[in-house]
Amino acid sequence: MGKDYYAVLGVDRKASKDDIKKAYRDLAKKYHPDLNPQNKKEAEEKFKEISEAYEILMDDQKRARFDQYGEEGVKFQGGFDWNQFHHYQDIQDIFGDLFSQFGFGGGGFGNPFGGFSGQQRELRGQDVYVEIPIDIRRIARGEKIEVYYFREMKCEECNGTGSSTKKLLTCPTCRGRGYVERSSNQGFIVFRTTEVCRTCNGRGKVPEKVCHVCSGSGYTRKKDKIDISPPPGIHEEEVYILRDKGNYRPGGSGDLRIKFDIDYMEFRRDNDDLEKDIQVDFIDAIMGGKVKVQLLRGEREVDIPAGTQPEERIVLKGEGIQRKSGRANADIVLKAKIALPKKISKKQRELLEQFKNEKGFFSQFHL
Ligand SMILES: [Zn+2]
Ligand SMILES: [Zn+2]
Repeated sequence: MGKDYYAVLGVDRKASKDDIKKAYRDLAKKYHPDLNPQNKKEAEEKFKEISEAYEILMDDQKRARFDQYGEEGVKFQGGFDWNQFHHYQDIQDIFGDLFSQFGFGGGGFGNPFGGFSGQQRELRGQDVYVEIPIDIRRIARGEKIEVYYFREMKCEECNGTGSSTKKLLTCPTCRGRGYVERSSNQGFIVFRTTEVCRTCNGRGKVPEKVCHVCSGSGYTRKKDKIDISPPPGIHEEEVYILRDKGNYRPGGSGDLRIKFDIDYMEFRRDNDDLEKDIQVDFIDAIMGGKVKVQLLRGEREVDIPAGTQPEERIVLKGEGIQRKSGRANADIVLKAKIALPKKISKKQRELLEQFKNEKGFFSQFHL
């Protein structure tokens, strides 16, 4: 008999994902090592155990294998470790701000206690988001655009340290740990919580002499400018990322994340291709002709084949925006809207009568 993950979380075998989440949430709050400074080692083991159970039971495939074969069916090679855990986000949600300030969710950490154990590390700045309106022609032409935005930049006065002497001292409140423990009594129960140190905001260090420009934060909010060329095939759903162009913090800068709010003008987007309606004179539609069309990179004369029908598609290969897959350009698809005159002259009427009476005209339409 191997481990029973259901028993570990105290849920029954029919538990829904929500039940499992709730059970994990309750147990995580109980066993997080940083909330159990008295018996940290034990809590750490227990926290790992419930996290392993959570990892298995939240994954449909693993859960099904476990139901069928027990622990043998899902055993981790060399035992479970934090690299196999996929739910850091949930832990972050459970503990909220408390741990997020210590690097939770920042990526690149190997275990969830990293933030609290040992040396306090410097924080990385947050990402900055901007949305840029731009029309499809400018994108297709690969035009360079200037983007102005606000971000927190390194204070030049103190070189980002927050100290006008550029020297930092160990925080006297938390003695460099970045957090403080607090206990409060509720009847006979003593609650112990860990909070971010307010003196140093979790940095563990304080300026020797507070910089007068940034008031000790090490950064100032400023307008910045960058030049970019939006990728010629970019979709409005995509996020264009510029590394280190976000908010500055001593531990590193966040990224700038750009979303393009694309104005398609008279075009409609269909995956890589663009579609556009064109007006075709009914005579050109019947006899064939030429129509001038504004495309992405200028005007082009397009051949209208004889016998073009309403809504018929004329494909202009390679006239579109860049394909997502590679360097080649996608197509522009023109949709023929046949234009009929509302009024005609007497002469034109006579000619049409003549056309109508011409033998063979009706045979196309009627039996
Ligand atoms: Zn402190
Ligand atoms: Zn400064």
